[in-house]
Amino acid sequence: MRNALGGPRLLLRRLREAMAEPISAQARLDKIVVTIAANMVAEVCSVYVLRGDGRLELYATEGLNREAVHLTTMRAGEGLVGLIAESAEPLALDDAQSHPAFSYKPETGEEIYHAFLGVPILRGGATLGVLVVQNRARRIYSEEEVEAAQTTAMLLAEMIASGELQALAQPGDPTALRRAMTLHGATLAEGVGLGHVVLHEPRVVIKQLVAEDPAAETARLEAAIQALRDEIDTLIDRGDRLGAGEHREVLETVRMFANDRGWIRRLREAIATGLTAEAAVERVQSDARAKLQRQTDPYLRDRLHDLDDLAHRLLHQLTGQSFVEAREILPDNAILVARTMGPAALLDYPRAKLRGLVLEHGGATAHVAIVARAIGIPAVGDVANVTDLVEPGDAIIIDGNAGDVQLRPATDVEAAYAEKARLRARRQEQYRALRDAPAMTRDGVDVKLNMNAGLVVDLQHVEETGAASIGLFRTELQFMIAARFPRASEQESLYRRVFEAVGDKPVTFRTLDIGSDKVLPYMVKVEEENPALGWRAIRIGLDRPGLLRMQLRAMLRAGAGRDLRIMFPMVASIGEFEAARAIVVRECAHLARHGYPAPRDLKLGVMVEVPSLLFELDALCRRVDFLSVGSNDLMQYLFAADRDNRRVAHRFDPLSPPALAALGAIAQAGARAGVPVTLCGEMGGKPLDALALAAVGYRSLSMSPASIGPVKAALRAVDLAELRTMLRPLIDDGDDSAPVREKLRAYAEANDIPL
Ligand code: PEP
Ligand code: MG
Repeated sequence: MRNALGGPRLLLRRLREAMAEPISAQARLDKIVVTIAANMVAEVCSVYVLRGDGRLELYATEGLNREAVHLTTMRAGEGLVGLIAESAEPLALDDAQSHPAFSYKPETGEEIYHAFLGVPILRGGATLGVLVVQNRARRIYSEEEVEAAQTTAMLLAEMIASGELQALAQPGDPTALRRAMTLHGATLAEGVGLGHVVLHEPRVVIKQLVAEDPAAETARLEAAIQALRDEIDTLIDRGDRLGAGEHREVLETVRMFANDRGWIRRLREAIATGLTAEAAVERVQSDARAKLQRQTDPYLRDRLHDLDDLAHRLLHQLTGQSFVEAREILPDNAILVARTMGPAALLDYPRAKLRGLVLEHGGATAHVAIVARAIGIPAVGDVANVTDLVEPGDAIIIDGNAGDVQLRPATDVEAAYAEKARLRARRQEQYRALRDAPAMTRDGVDVKLNMNAGLVVDLQHVEETGAASIGLFRTELQFMIAARFPRASEQESLYRRVFEAVGDKPVTFRTLDIGSDKVLPYMVKVEEENPALGWRAIRIGLDRPGLLRMQLRAMLRAGAGRDLRIMFPMVASIGEFEAARAIVVRECAHLARHGYPAPRDLKLGVMVEVPSLLFELDALCRRVDFLSVGSNDLMQYLFAADRDNRRVAHRFDPLSPPALAALGAIAQAGARAGVPVTLCGEMGGKPLDALALAAVGYRSLSMSPASIGPVKAALRAVDLAELRTMLRPLIDDGDDSAPVREKLRAYAEANDIPL
């Protein structure tokens, strides 16, 4: 249907004028509904806005009873407006009242209208409200009119997103977009951070929504699509990765979409309604998101990410905006929000400005979590839909201990967290004061506290924390954050930097511990039924000795004239250690033949993380120079509970009698043989667990840098002999009157031991 006032483009021009006028938000909205009604020759035009409580509120109307504005509300799902909000699909009816979902609101006086056209107001696929036009006569709205209404809704979405309508919200009823939310996820890195949202992949800011010359916009669109296709083809041909997760498969899917005729047609149609090329991309993408988000099929939902990726790339082509700029203008208290992030990308941000990281995908084993812990920022992962729920600049709080995220928090919530953060900072201050004090118990037992590391950024913490040594250097991290296999010279240069950073303190390097969850993106993935029980760590090292040899050579060269300790992960039998040692011996001989100086002192050890070793500890101690207990893996194998599976990871307690008996047996075997034993799993860094470990015989623990202060404070407050007397019957005699953990906690509380 041709309408009286010159079609959708004129409508958009009028609306743009209304948007620019210096009038109040309500006056602007009122003007907008009048303009739409006139342009579409409709008697009614109404705007409903979705509120934080899930209700749709009438914000403006031309044609319905004005008194109903800000009074009429309905649930999503209730009536035609509610149906549109819920389905996120337009609805055009020639007789609204005969639709089963029609619900009559007497205060609006709408019973006299028959024809009804409603479209969702969408942004990023999320419903923000509903735009409705109605006519008294029964009539059929044309496809063009539906299109025009959708384009108009996009302008309203911008108005809602800008926060302008917030001024019209009733106290206590903010618009859905601005409401406070508590989101839950998985703990990736501990700590509390308050700040503002920064999107890791910023949405492209579209400055111009409305265009005068559709032909020119179509030409811009086609040129951008062509450039995008060329770019993707080049990437695929080069077989390159642009960043984590961006591999061939994703690019192939993006290429498929970029050639999809339906998609291109929808873009052209959106331009024809008067939008700029970039606004058209955003609109089509928003519709696609709304549809795909309502899919239950995980395959289809996954395609959403590919489509997002495509839209994102196209917008960058069209606007020339780059990610780098956003990174450079980071606010001082940035909390990064990302769908996923590679570990190297996080390292690219200036640490001083980061207060936290929130990921939509990625649990505790995500490699970026390791980096977050290393640089000491709180991180929460597995937060469903978070990238859609935030707006850049939103106030946000991250609680890495509880795995919670507070979005747009109320002032009392913010005050409570600010207090929590201050308390933490005060505690850190106290820990720093303990830096040079020994971790000596009240009855004079000295426990060495060492530090776990794996990245260059970790090294500064040796000095800061006063760690006795690097008790575990996870060499695989260098491999995991690299885009390709690190060369021998790169490995050697990292190990040299480690030695330089520690001065005279010893370093224990662990050989490559890959496989299972630790995958290298550039290595062919081996499909296994049970990767945790599969081809990993030393098993790969012994089967592919070239790899192990290259790494050992780098360690030996970097360790010339130094105290070098090397340990092997996931050893399950003495024979495996013997085989690994033979490779070291051969490498030493090789280097000596070529005139390289040897380490001043070379010690070889085994990580105890496979339970089979528990039954040959004495024989093992006769062969090794030291042992290091990998309690993370040891516990998962002892209790047959996958450490990365949240459903089962908490089904056992490392402070239960069997766990403590096993851990105690290792410490005692070491003590009998005069072989030093360290424990380098996560439990060593928890004050309560550290007390129990000291009680069963551990005199050396290695932990993340942030744990050294709290563990030291706890150890310095305990009388170990007394604690041992309290614990021994619980472990030895299986006294199960109460869990060990509870008794230990009660003991700590009664004795003023800080935990
Ligand atoms: C362990 O298993 O406890 C350990 C320290 O090694 P990782 O956590 O790197 O497997
Ligand atoms: Mg391990």
